[in-house]
Amino acid sequence: MLLNDQVILIALSGEYKMQFGKKPGYDPDYDLKLDKSLARDEYPAEKLAAARAARHTSLCAQVCTREVWDKYKNVVSSGPAKWTLARAINTGVIYPESFVGCHAGDKESYDDFRDFFHPVIEKYHTGFSMQEGSALDGSPSERMDPAKISADLSDSAKDKIISTRIRIARNLSMFPLNPGGSRESREEIAALMAKVYRRIPIGSDLAGEFFLHTTMSDAQRQALIDDHFLFRGSDRMQAASGYHEHWPHGRGVYLNNAKTFVNWVNEGDHLRIISMEPDGDVKAVFARLSAGAKIIEDGVRAITGIDEVFMMHPKFGAVTCCPSNIGTGMRGSVHIKVPKLIETIGFEEIDGLCRERNCQARGTTGEHSQVLDRIDVSNWRRIGLPEYELVDDMIRCANFLANEEDTRG
Ligand code: ADP
Ligand code: MG
Repeated sequence: MLLNDQVILIALSGEYKMQFGKKPGYDPDYDLKLDKSLARDEYPAEKLAAARAARHTSLCAQVCTREVWDKYKNVVSSGPAKWTLARAINTGVIYPESFVGCHAGDKESYDDFRDFFHPVIEKYHTGFSMQEGSALDGSPSERMDPAKISADLSDSAKDKIISTRIRIARNLSMFPLNPGGSRESREEIAALMAKVYRRIPIGSDLAGEFFLHTTMSDAQRQALIDDHFLFRGSDRMQAASGYHEHWPHGRGVYLNNAKTFVNWVNEGDHLRIISMEPDGDVKAVFARLSAGAKIIEDGVRAITGIDEVFMMHPKFGAVTCCPSNIGTGMRGSVHIKVPKLIETIGFEEIDGLCRERNCQARGTTGEHSQVLDRIDVSNWRRIGLPEYELVDDMIRCANFLANEEDTRG
């Protein structure tokens, strides 16, 4: 594929519209809009007060008091994004129902706005302390060793599992995080990744092809989304953070030939490194993720000569746009069929049961999606623990839900 040439061609063609007529797979509703008060650099007092009064109080609303706002209202992050608190909290102000509601624009944002981000991190990652925390011990290959997974799926869970997917969110240390990035930074990332993918040996399990949103057809895109291989690019909450800006430039997906190793490029984080397959062979999925993450890291290092490839924070580990993903950046999930449970106790209660087990429930067509007869169950914790323990959390919770389903009639 001539990916670099495609990227350059698009860059040279000026406005995307001149070449393609419209932004493919994209609704202008998802353009970045700033809340009116934030756009005037004013504290959104009423909206945050209303959010606090609501049942689902976002972490953003809880932490961004007027005192915090006043401390940071004139501060600009010391990193490449020149991030501001107004930009950081836009999602939580516009969508008070969001759970987290804030985003970083660069690695430096997390410490430059520490009285805001550190409490958000501690509230989300219950039990983790920014004072005492330290980046994860052990090398990635130790932490992602499938032999260290100690739980096993029960037969009942195996029967009900439709598919397994484990992903890690990673950002490249040489670029701003995407909410604080530009069209150019996104395109440079895609061009770099195209080179990394070309280095994967032909004939290896991980070998495949890199597709760009700018060149795929609408039908191709939809088929990939329907098969859970590609991101939608149409989440209002994510749009308010700046994830979707300059869509579709620099956005792409790498798929190995078996479609079991998938990389999302510039969905929100620079990279989502994903391993997935039908059924419930969690260890095989985890082993492929581990090998895939290494090949990506080694490839970027070889091309750039930069030793610290992934953006890492000394206290919490991997840096991601959303504070919910920092640490390991790992979410391991199974899609599991539990129709009786959904009918009898409903999604919210199932989610509550999962939370008691360090897991969470989602709809199966992505975060904030509808629930029919199946749910997505995944680890909730992402920080302070090795990745294999988070996989154990997910396996145990899937076993529990399968058993609950069996005991309901
Ligand atoms: P992420 O945490 O990776 O952002 P999302 O909930 O946004 O996850 O889902 C992203 C996509 O991955 C969706 O298309 C979703 O259906 C798919 N997905 C997540 N988990 C699984 C799974 N276990 N099996 C198949 N597809 C999955
Ligand atoms: Mg997502």
